[in-house]
Amino acid sequence: FQAEDGIRDVERSRGLGDVYKRQGMSGPRIGLNCDVVTQGGKDRVTVPWVYLDAVQRAGGLPTLLPPVDAEGAVAAYLAGIDGLVLIGGADYDPQLYGQSVHPNTKLVAERRQRFDMRLAKAAAAAGAPTLGICGGIQLLNVALGGALIQHIADAVPEALTHTRSGEAERFHEVTVAGGSRLAGVVGAGPLEVNSSHHQAIGEPAPGLAVAARAPDGVVEAVEGTGETFLLGVQWHPERLADRPEHLALFQALVAAAERRR
Ligand code: MN
Repeated sequence: FQAEDGIRDVERSRGLGDVYKRQGMSGPRIGLNCDVVTQGGKDRVTVPWVYLDAVQRAGGLPTLLPPVDAEGAVAAYLAGIDGLVLIGGADYDPQLYGQSVHPNTKLVAERRQRFDMRLAKAAAAAGAPTLGICGGIQLLNVALGGALIQHIADAVPEALTHTRSGEAERFHEVTVAGGSRLAGVVGAGPLEVNSSHHQAIGEPAPGLAVAARAPDGVVEAVEGTGETFLLGVQWHPERLADRPEHLALFQALVAAAERRR
């Protein structure tokens, strides 16, 4: 990612140039982990553009954190960022939380999993403001000692359809718990979210509290019980950044990162 390309892209986007100019380049640095895609036996790292767009619209400077195994890499990365977004992707190995692999579970690349687990644990230990999205909420929960539901359709009676077919968004409602940190960002009560996941939080990790549920009981958000900004959502706010209540999640992360800078 080249920052200048980012500025040009944003300025090209309708209505975003002014936002970015107003924020300048001085926004806090928001790290993002990357997906690893293997094609023809070769690995490459990718991040969907919408994450970078949402971070910039919220006033942050996106900073990609490619997965590496070097011992000091995670600490060095964390020293160079003010906040962190954990992006979505495929599934983390259920052996990490004591289960065997369900037939519908599709594992992320090992290279990514190794790094993501180290990153999520270290970020939480360091108190780095963190927003976990879809696979990112699941990563947070597993890294901090919780367990997942591997396939909602098999595990939750009368489950809603949480997956999407094709590119069209599927939507359902969630109820945001009153008094939660999340409620301070998006308001308590009903919230319309998009949904493209087949796994969910089963057992929240120590230090994480449920902050929102779907009508079928599926956990849709968790948050840290401590002082640090630590929030995970099962939906994809980066794809709904035109809606103020979803952009607000990124704005809250950037504000927390700014305070910590
Ligand atoms: Mn859902």
